[in-house]
Amino acid sequence: MPELPEVEVTRRSFADRIAAAHILALRMGKPLRWPLGVPAAHLVGHQILGVRRRGKYLLLDLDQGLLLVHLGMSGSLNFAPTQPEAGPHDHMDLVTDRGVLRLHDPRRFGAVVWAPAEDSPQAQKLLGRLGVEPLSAQFDVAVFAQALKKRQSAIKPVLLAGHEVVGVGNIYASEALFMAGIRPTTKASRLSRPRVARLHAAIVQVLTRAVEQGGSSLKDFVNAEGHTGYFQLEAAVYGRAGEPCRVCATPIQSMVQGQRTTFYCPTCQKP
Ligand SMILES: [Zn+2]
Repeated sequence: MPELPEVEVTRRSFADRIAAAHILALRMGKPLRWPLGVPAAHLVGHQILGVRRRGKYLLLDLDQGLLLVHLGMSGSLNFAPTQPEAGPHDHMDLVTDRGVLRLHDPRRFGAVVWAPAEDSPQAQKLLGRLGVEPLSAQFDVAVFAQALKKRQSAIKPVLLAGHEVVGVGNIYASEALFMAGIRPTTKASRLSRPRVARLHAAIVQVLTRAVEQGGSSLKDFVNAEGHTGYFQLEAAVYGRAGEPCRVCATPIQSMVQGQRTTFYCPTCQKP
């Protein structure tokens, strides 16, 4: 599943090239998670001003309104001067005078939604409940610590829920908790201030590194050859159940927590 770093890497891969492009056509394929919300023909002639990211949404700002794109479980975007004929899993072609932005999404949990403005009900329905951006100045240790104090559940599902900080998915939550020495089952409200500070730093570090390395599963969803991405090969705990901890050699354990598999080192990560 594309996580925040993959979405950010995707954004960087085409944002500069598509900026200032004019929309010539929009072809939508099979239904995605949500409808576009406007007839596709209404977008023709409009200009794309730039591409931002909010959580795992890409926001294509138009001269009138914006397009919100989500990659869902299996989506990938490719921007190229021309595209081959659309295959059965290509569900959007945004044709511009600078190239064609194509959404490939075999499982169709992705979405392309038009909204008249970022603060419109259509956009806020998707963006309104997102927590702060982990790679922005708004992600503040003191605010994060205060928010966690109010959470009675285990820290890992609190991170995944995305209300306190957005976009820390399963891989990165597992890795950040290892880096911070915190057991995934520890109650969020019980974390001491120094431990929250370590977790905060670990989240920033693990996501920054993943963006720099091109996203963990980016190779998967770009060339679809089933490679594990670079970061996953380097992972300390994620996907390493039974293998020795890279720090202390204790076998990494796995457990299911909120229907997601969690990996941790029982020695390095304290309750
Ligand atoms: Zn260990």
